[in-house]
Amino acid sequence: MNATTRFLKRLSETDGISGFEHEVGGLVEGELGGICEIERDNLGSVICKLPGESDGPRIMICGHIDEVGFIVQQVTDDGYVKFLPVGGWSTRNMLSQKVSIATRKGRVLGVIGSADPWDFDDQKIDKVLKMKELFIDVGQSVDFDVKEHLDIRPGDPITPVSKFEIMSNPKMFMSKAWDDRIGVGIMVEALKRLAKSKRRHHNTVYGVGTAQEEVGLRGAKTSSSSVRPDVAFAVDICGAFDTPGHDKGRADRAGNGVGVMVCGGGVFPNPRFRDFMIELCEEKKIRHFLGTIPRGGTDAGRIQIAGTGVLALYIGIATRYGHSHNSVIHRDDFDNAVKLMVEACLALDAETVTRLKTF
Ligand SMILES: [Zn+2]
Repeated sequence: MNATTRFLKRLSETDGISGFEHEVGGLVEGELGGICEIERDNLGSVICKLPGESDGPRIMICGHIDEVGFIVQQVTDDGYVKFLPVGGWSTRNMLSQKVSIATRKGRVLGVIGSADPWDFDDQKIDKVLKMKELFIDVGQSVDFDVKEHLDIRPGDPITPVSKFEIMSNPKMFMSKAWDDRIGVGIMVEALKRLAKSKRRHHNTVYGVGTAQEEVGLRGAKTSSSSVRPDVAFAVDICGAFDTPGHDKGRADRAGNGVGVMVCGGGVFPNPRFRDFMIELCEEKKIRHFLGTIPRGGTDAGRIQIAGTGVLALYIGIATRYGHSHNSVIHRDDFDNAVKLMVEACLALDAETVTRLKTF
């Protein structure tokens, strides 16, 4: 495993649901502290400033540092944990999955359970369960009273438990939280390469790990008001429509390059800026696809409407099983996305940005 893969492993395995993502921010700070000026805003977003050759346009590359999870609602009298979702979950992804509850006295391992299907009639057995029918089992038994032994409180964060694995196809990486630790990894790697590059960038690049994306794009709002970007890229996952059940021939597939998202994610990109990025991919021979998703929001949508408006684009990484314990990405898509972010920062000088945003 090389250093970049090791860092991706650490990023994905570190716990950080929305509002509790400070440890992930610390990893970003550790990687970029030597080359950037670093600031944390009051929500916990980490803002890494990489000055360029001139104080030209301000380019923001962001990945959100939070992940989806749950929060403790109550511990029932019979010793089970009821919870609320943080971010978007479907119960079909949750049953029998391991979770970790961070209490003031340490971590408590649990498994998401429901009433035993042995007790279900034929009609119920195939039904998708409602969130409120599920609970977390932390080891209650006749001789172990959870309420007495474990200090679990309402508001304690609950994170999916899952290990990073390289699959038999060595380019496929499986782990929790690729949404959006893969975007964070791309942002970090792009800034490192820009700092090392002999080619000069005529702008100031801000790598931002945004907090609380999954609960309403909150970190994007606060961090963009302090960065005041001219151009912004939100690197985030998008759907991978290459599994059974989707139309054949979709471009949004794992391993098919970096997604230039032309529609969806709550952003309507300036067409000149969109075409500039597509032509840059063609010119630099960066494997890419034009992605569309029917719903969902991204930081790009929030940053686009900051101040008097920003040239914003959603950069997608085709990901299978996002918002679950085991999501899957393709390593080459990471490399293509890093390359595109580096080339964009090298190309976006003051004259180009003015041309792209002038109507
Ligand atoms: Zn995301």
